[in-house]
Amino acid sequence: MDNPKTLPPQGMTKDAVFARMQAARDRDVQWREGRVFSLVFPAGVDVEEVASTAYTLFFGENGLNPTAFPSLRTFETEVVAMTATLLGGDTQVAGNMTSGGTESILLAVKTARDWARVERPHITQPEIVACQSVHPAFAKAAHYFGVRLVTTPPRADLRADVDRMAAAISANTILLVGSAPAYPHGVVDPIRELAPLAAERGLLMHVDACVGGMLLPFVRRLGYPVPDFDFSVPGVTSISVDLHKYGYAAKGASVILYRDASLRRHQLFVATGWAGGIYPSPSMTGTRPGGAIAAAWAVMNYLGETGYLTLTDQVMRTAKTLQAGIEGIEGVHVLGHPDMSVMAIASDRYDIYDIGDELTLRGWHLDRQQYPPTLHLTVMPAHAASAAAFLDDLASAVAVVRRPSLARWRKNLLLTLVRWLTRILPSTAMSRLTNRFAPGGGGGLPTRTAAIYGLIGSLPNRGDVDSLVLDLLDSMTRPQSS
Ligand SMILES: *Cc1c(COP(=O)(O)O)cnc(C)c1O
Repeated sequence: MDNPKTLPPQGMTKDAVFARMQAARDRDVQWREGRVFSLVFPAGVDVEEVASTAYTLFFGENGLNPTAFPSLRTFETEVVAMTATLLGGDTQVAGNMTSGGTESILLAVKTARDWARVERPHITQPEIVACQSVHPAFAKAAHYFGVRLVTTPPRADLRADVDRMAAAISANTILLVGSAPAYPHGVVDPIRELAPLAAERGLLMHVDACVGGMLLPFVRRLGYPVPDFDFSVPGVTSISVDLHKYGYAAKGASVILYRDASLRRHQLFVATGWAGGIYPSPSMTGTRPGGAIAAAWAVMNYLGETGYLTLTDQVMRTAKTLQAGIEGIEGVHVLGHPDMSVMAIASDRYDIYDIGDELTLRGWHLDRQQYPPTLHLTVMPAHAASAAAFLDDLASAVAVVRRPSLARWRKNLLLTLVRWLTRILPSTAMSRLTNRFAPGGGGGLPTRTAAIYGLIGSLPNRGDVDSLVLDLLDSMTRPQSS
């Protein structure tokens, strides 16, 4: 496909437009077949149909102004209330729908900052304390809102270390954060210990239940042990929970909840002096797509408790099958003791990124993680049908990596060379060189990423990694020169 840089002088036909789009998605990951372990949460064609029909019904509506669309206001209020009840909240809990986990987290941090401006006016440089496993949305929020994020290493079991977090609290701390669970290894932080710590010191306590909030309540009802993590724990003051993950809603749907409306008050914004009128806004965005709000309401009502329980049962059985299967393969294991269906595969013996590359060649899509190197799995209902095939392919991927190979020997040689070059080349030359490792130099999906992760891991200075990745991001969203 060529890469037009201007609008077509004449509009294309609908057929031509859609043909182009079909061609464009040819090399996308095939998520409907249960071969992707991140990014999409398919729950079956019926759920997808409910979400997309509801989205289309409210395709044109705008959630910015609740007085124009009482329908959306009702949907949002009900979605927030249903979510709050699932998470141990009472009628005091107040919240909003947002575009996703990141926006929910940005709002939680902004609210904490603005709360502290009123309630802790002596603090001029506010700080958040969290475990290193906390989602990067908190680093983003800290960066955006002039707050300092202080992170502490996890315990040996990968959960937040309460003693270290307590020691990291300073006179400037305004907020503690725990995850339920943290994304990298799927373990729930000890919220029962963190929340009283926050309460004792007069701090706010946010629980990031973005990935777990719509699953853990059902996991518990199915009889699996789930540590307490929600509003039932005194001291928890806010919770983020994504509906576009295990809520199975359309993308663009998350909820931010506060223990009461007086805390939520610090989230709200109004501009009263504008020529365009008085402009109130509850969240970060202005225009809010009605479709995402409507689809979340529709899916939650379509599934109901029994629907979520059935899907959660399927997810948890599949997660246990995968976990046992992975443990049964020589040389690989699951890191720690995941509390639900998110886990990481590690190896003490082989290069796990090489194993990841072999899986990619076999048509699987798994995210690569670092510190330590692992492959990430988010188990979804669709994996019930593909788990056995995945375990077969994982076993053969390990078998291939176990054998000495010329390609891997060459990769290691290349990495040694690059490591040596990074010490002597100026950084601009380095970033040009590393562009050659850009994911999908040809526009398609990367197949071998072990090299780039090896390269990143080998750079002497983490600052180089930041500029390297930002270079890549920059180049990926510019028109490709064809
Ligand atoms: C996905 C996720 C987020 C961010 O959510 P987005 O919807 O991707 O913005 C934050 N925290 C955790 C634990 C997550 O899994």
